[in-house]
Formats: sequence, structure tokens, C-alpha cells
Amino acid sequence: MRDIPFGNLKRHYASIRDEIDAAVHRVLESGWYILGNELSQFEKEFADYVDVKHSIGVGSGTEALHLALVAAGVGRGDHVITVANTAVPTLSAISFAGAVPIFVDIDPDSYCINAAKIEAAITAKTRAIVPVHLYGHACDMPTIMDIARQHDLKVIEDCAQAHGAKNNGQMVGTFGDYGCFSFYPSKNLGAFGDAGIVVTNDTAEAEKLIKLRNYGQSKRYYHDSIGFNSRLDELQAAILAAKLPHLHGWIQRRQEIAALYCLNVRNRDIHLPLVQDGIEHVYHLFVIRHQRRDELRRYLQEHGVGSQIHYPVPCHLQAAYAFLGIKNGSLPVTENYAQTVLSLPNYPELLDDEINYICDILNEF
Ligand SMILES: *Cc1c(COP(=O)(O)O)cnc(C)c1O
Repeated sequence: MRDIPFGNLKRHYASIRDEIDAAVHRVLESGWYILGNELSQFEKEFADYVDVKHSIGVGSGTEALHLALVAAGVGRGDHVITVANTAVPTLSAISFAGAVPIFVDIDPDSYCINAAKIEAAITAKTRAIVPVHLYGHACDMPTIMDIARQHDLKVIEDCAQAHGAKNNGQMVGTFGDYGCFSFYPSKNLGAFGDAGIVVTNDTAEAEKLIKLRNYGQSKRYYHDSIGFNSRLDELQAAILAAKLPHLHGWIQRRQEIAALYCLNVRNRDIHLPLVQDGIEHVYHLFVIRHQRRDELRRYLQEHGVGSQIHYPVPCHLQAAYAFLGIKNGSLPVTENYAQTVLSLPNYPELLDDEINYICDILNEF
């Protein structure tokens, strides 16, 4: 029987072993491990890639969001509009900033926040919107930015799944006040550990974040604000810098795999992803829907194909958020999709022959 895991980071490492090993050795020999040249160099290269003025390396994607929210002045009791079908860390960041998440349902086609429903969720306490470019599909940023400007709201983009995704040719992360990226190992650009980055075009905001990530320090041993310890270390920065030149090719391969699935899956009960006009989807995840999702997942497993569910329990129905008192039934699209979505293997190192096999199994079901 075939064995096609949902992800395969060993194969990924093997494809770039020499470059990674050289970067790791360089850092180990340097004797400098936190806030050095490797990070400054990577920050510059990542900012160029995203086409933005500043990027500030932090400890994780969650911390990128948390620090950006704090820098944006979001604090205790403020309302932050976002979605419930996201990775829980989007919510952790909002909660640790002291704010209350306000959930808006998703658009049935893009799986991203339904921009037409945002205005109805705005209250006097609303301070910010956190759009999540879920699965690698960019949100409707032009509409979201119009609403934010009209209501004087900050926009903090959750780009954790969307490195390189575009809306009308513009990279995600450059529309809002801040763009927050994760380099969790399985992301489109992943470290070999935890790492994240915030991007912004605003120099004053960038300076705030540089202090926030490093104990609020303005110069050595002088602290003019209360900060955190959240830094992208030299080892991960060197690894990410070695990987960044490959990102474009990896995204192209993910898009190619998505196209192969769309071409070869002919099972009419399987709903394939749609890409909206003007969007460049980077397919961090290739997500289908099926009414008998759990059975389909078992069938794939029996045939040696791994899959995942992103996400089985929407955030408003998680035990951690029961205190919000949001009832099942209040976000119908989100709740329906939690029962029907299934993510298929999609990573650059997946072979055509493996994709064809997966398509055969899907067509047989
Ligand atoms: C991965 C992810 C995060 C969190 O990133 P970490 O680096 O794991 O902290 C936040 N939001 C979304 C949508 C994610 O997929």
C-alpha cells in the first residue's frame, strides 16, 4: 500500500540540506545567537519580498499578532473583529492583548471573512479588524480597508497561511497597518522551530515593535516601555534567509498541485476550492468539502493517504471561548464548513504520481 502523509518535512529538508546545514554552521560558529546580522539581513530580504518598508522578526506568528495588536493600541475591553474559522492562535493574540473577539461569518466561496457583514458587527468599542487570509486565499482587502478608514479602525492582517498571496497584484500584509506572518515549520515559508515576523510601512510603528519584542528596551539597559521577550533568533533567521529564494518556486509547485487536483478529481460530491477574481491563491492548504467528510477521511487513510481538518471546532465553540456565550447556530457558514472541510496533501515535494494516486482514490469514493 502507498504511504502518502499529509505533510513531509523530512523530504523538504532533504531537498535543501546543503544550504540549511551551511547556514546553521555559520551561525553556530559565529558566537552570536540573538539579534544580530543574520536577523537584520533576513528582515531586509523579507521586507523586499513583501514589498514593504519594515519587517520585525519575532518569536512566532501568534506573537507577531499579539505585538502588533499591542502596538496598535488595542487593549482591555476593546472589540476586535475577526473570524471563528481560523487557527486558535489568532484568538490567543487578541485575548492576550486584553481585547474581546467579535466574530463575523465567512464568505462561502473564499472561506475568508465576509466583508459585507463587517459593518453590522462594529460597535463603539471596536478598535481593530483582524482579517485572516485563510488557506492562502487573500481576503477582500479593498473592501475591508474602506470600512476600516470610514470607522477609524486598525487593520492587522493574519498572513500566517498566506506568504506571497496577492489581491489585485498587491501582496497580503501590505494593505493593513501591520501584516503578521508565521514561520511555523509547515507554513509556506517555515523555520526549523518557532518564528514569526511583523511587516509595516510605518517607521514609527516599526520602532515601537523593535522595542516591544526586546523588553521595551530603547538602548541597552534603558527601557521606556513595558515589553516582551519575543525575538526571531539568529539560527532561524539564517535558515529562513536560505529558504526565502526558493519560496516563489515552492508556491508555484503548490499552485500546480492544486491545478492537478482540480483537473483530475471528477467525483461530483467533492467540492473543490474556488479562487475569486483578482486573487492569487498560494495554497498553504488545499481544502475540499464533502457531506460525508469523516467517511471520506477514513477511506483515504485506509488507502494510505493522510489528510487533516482545518478546523474541526470553530473558535467560538472551543471550551476556551465558552465564556463569550456565543451559541452554536450563530455563524452558520463557519459551523457547516467545520463539519465538511478536508485538507489534502499539498506540499512542493509531493510527486505527480502521488497526486494522481490520491485523485484516483477520491474518484473511487
Ligand atoms: C499558524 C497560524 C498562526 C500562529 O502561528 P505560530 O507561528 O504557530 O504562532 C496564526 N494564525 C493562523 C491563521 C495560523 O495558521
